Amino acid sequence: MKIRFNENEEVVRIVQEGLKERGGYCPCRMESTDDTKCMCKEFREQIRDPDFEGYCHCMLYYKEK
Ligand code: SF4
Repeated sequence: MKIRFNENEEVVRIVQEGLKERGGYCPCRMESTDDTKCMCKEFREQIRDPDFEGYCHCMLYYKEK
């Protein structure tokens, strides 16, 4: 299992800017809660899921099995 950034550097730059503006909360969600603080709950669960492979919701990260 490996977590890496999206291979598209422009996507990484845009999402990281959004994270900075939102104080570390997910830029693709409205709520600012513990669940939406990067790495958000959804992605943490996807990391734990042995069957999941793919991008996080914002496409900042990619999880390889
Ligand atoms: S892991 Fe991805 S979807 Fe989750 S908060 Fe971070 S950038 Fe957003």
